[in-house]
Amino acid sequence: MTAKIIDGKAIARKILDELADEVADLSARGKQPHLLAVQVGEDAASSAYISSQQKRCEEIGIKFTREGLPADAPERQLLERIRQLNDDKSVHGIMVQMPLPEGMNHMKVHTSIAPDKDVEGMTAANMGRLVYGEPNFAPCTAMAAYSLIKSLKMPLRGLEATILGRSKIVGRPLYLLLLMDSVTPVICHTGTADLKAHARNADILVSAVGRPGFVTADMVKPGAVVIDVGINRVPVLDENGQPTLNEKGKKKMKTVGDVAFDEVSKVAGYITPVPGGVGPMTVAMLLRNTVRAAKKAAGMRDAG
Ligand code: NAP
Repeated sequence: MTAKIIDGKAIARKILDELADEVADLSARGKQPHLLAVQVGEDAASSAYISSQQKRCEEIGIKFTREGLPADAPERQLLERIRQLNDDKSVHGIMVQMPLPEGMNHMKVHTSIAPDKDVEGMTAANMGRLVYGEPNFAPCTAMAAYSLIKSLKMPLRGLEATILGRSKIVGRPLYLLLLMDSVTPVICHTGTADLKAHARNADILVSAVGRPGFVTADMVKPGAVVIDVGINRVPVLDENGQPTLNEKGKKKMKTVGDVAFDEVSKVAGYITPVPGGVGPMTVAMLLRNTVRAAKKAAGMRDAG
């Protein structure tokens, strides 16, 4: 069997094109969606992430503002800024960039964001709504994986799903999203006794572990849907298995997922590539949430 590729990039592109029309409509009414990112300190990866979000927002007409606080800013200063932004009607979505400096309480910080501006779906209120089966904003990466599964338009009721990884941004919320479709989900983690057996049993296998090559062909049920959330940087090897160097003499690197793509795509029915699978969908979910937040603030109904 050769798996069909779930093209996250193309699916995300379609969502972004539709959002661009909605943003144009909102902007024409003087209600341009506005996303604001707060970064504490200057983590390089986080700065790069903010720049890429900014680019995507601006491409479809969403206003994007980035704000910085010094790395030694006290938690109460961040909480006070979030309180002001919650009251600021010109801001529709608030993101607090990870990682936060040591000593800051992530849950307290996230939960201080107004739930209707929590476009990353990280507040306790929005997480709690998932448990009630009435999502408001769900974490974007979990929503991305879920939307890619839904894009297949297959009946989900009765299927078994195995999610590798129990993080707050992927495994736990995805478990709850799949439950809403009457899937029977299982989450595996480092304490799972026989992870391979759970993986092999899955009609839908999602990996969010953060280890290259973690999911091998012998862990996949023939015909299964395989969603690879992992993002891992690994050296590019030459034909002898040695790392290749760039012009500066540094190891050339590439991005891979958790799934051993070549061998698993011979067994699976559907598979997401990395890059080009869950990653672009995660950004699309964030922008979609921002547009929804702006519509909500304007008292407009949201079709999707
Ligand atoms: P995380 O918080 O580090 O969670 C990793 C999970 O994997 C944990 O639950 C951990 O188990 C489990 N795990 C790790 N090694 C394992 C092993 N050997 N056996 C069984 N379970 C194992 O990671 P995350 O933030 O969810 O991210 C996961 C991956 O997704 C990373 O590669 C990250 O870069 C990527 N990611 C992608 C996107 C995207 O847009 N595509 C967005 C966010 C993250 P324990 O809980 O027992 O430690």
